[in-house]
Amino acid sequence: MWRVIGQERAVSLLQRSLEKGTLAHAYLFTGPHHIGKMTLALDLARALNCGAAGPPCGECLSCRKIGQGKHADVQVISLGSGDNTEGVKIQTEIGIEQVRQLQHSASLPPFEGRCKVFIINGAEFLSVEAANCLLKTLEEPESRVVFILLAGDSSFILDTVISRCQWLKLAPVAADKAEAALASGWGMAPEQAKRLARLSRGCLGWALTAAGDADFLAQHCEKRDRILDIILAGNEERFEYAARLAAQFSQKREAVWEVLELWLNLWRDMLLLKLGCGGAITNIDLEDRLVERAGEYSPGDIREFIGGIQAAGERLRQNASPRLVLEVLMLDMPTRKLEKVAG
Ligand SMILES: [Zn+2]
Repeated sequence: MWRVIGQERAVSLLQRSLEKGTLAHAYLFTGPHHIGKMTLALDLARALNCGAAGPPCGECLSCRKIGQGKHADVQVISLGSGDNTEGVKIQTEIGIEQVRQLQHSASLPPFEGRCKVFIINGAEFLSVEAANCLLKTLEEPESRVVFILLAGDSSFILDTVISRCQWLKLAPVAADKAEAALASGWGMAPEQAKRLARLSRGCLGWALTAAGDADFLAQHCEKRDRILDIILAGNEERFEYAARLAAQFSQKREAVWEVLELWLNLWRDMLLLKLGCGGAITNIDLEDRLVERAGEYSPGDIREFIGGIQAAGERLRQNASPRLVLEVLMLDMPTRKLEKVAG
């Protein structure tokens, strides 16, 4: 049984390739955070090593070991998974040493299973050196070895690497489908299913994490509340906020992307409300506050600031100074019209 949810297209493609014996030796799975990239990668690793008639069974020793991260032939490489040969500094890239270790391991036959699987989680963080090194392995694949690269954003992966992989783009599930799946498949109450389907933006893995982990959801809501506070705050508070966020960037890059994503979602919701499309908003539980905020800007102002948030994300990816980028973002925020604009 495949554990990934809402990715039928990708699953059926992989399943067909498995049945026909036409699997690629390298895959690239892309899609937003919590869409199910790692779950799908582990599913594929299970399917490749499962001993049952309908792989992946999820129950045989091999499937269970892979699920527990204890299978000798399935390795996950990510930021921070190196053994520190590259120094004790905070790791912001997957370095060449990690790739060399992986290559060495790939050159040895499977230890306990049928197929070695290497999952590179956060392939967009491969250093150029590491990516070029990996390229050699992708160009001359070993038999019984499959590489699975996972990335939120493919635009920072070398084209030469992408071209050697079969690329599966995992897309969010439509809100109504997600809501139905959460209600029928996981027995969520209708209100909760609706709220989490929206908040997750169709990433069912996110919705399930939020349903099972109250802290996770509370932190998410806290970050959104903070953004709504900052919209009302003066420059001093906004700059403090930018500085704190920037300080996180070197250590918790993903957390900062996540916050920018929240900024984007909240302002998109404001635009939708402004345009009379309230039924499509993400933050349904904040509708009243968002209506109030949206009333203080023109649609053009909101649209322009959405562009500003996107540009900030782009500049961060290009390694601009996080503090500068975030301060500019704070300055770009449109001025509130204290007298409400009609419509
Ligand atoms: Zn199995």
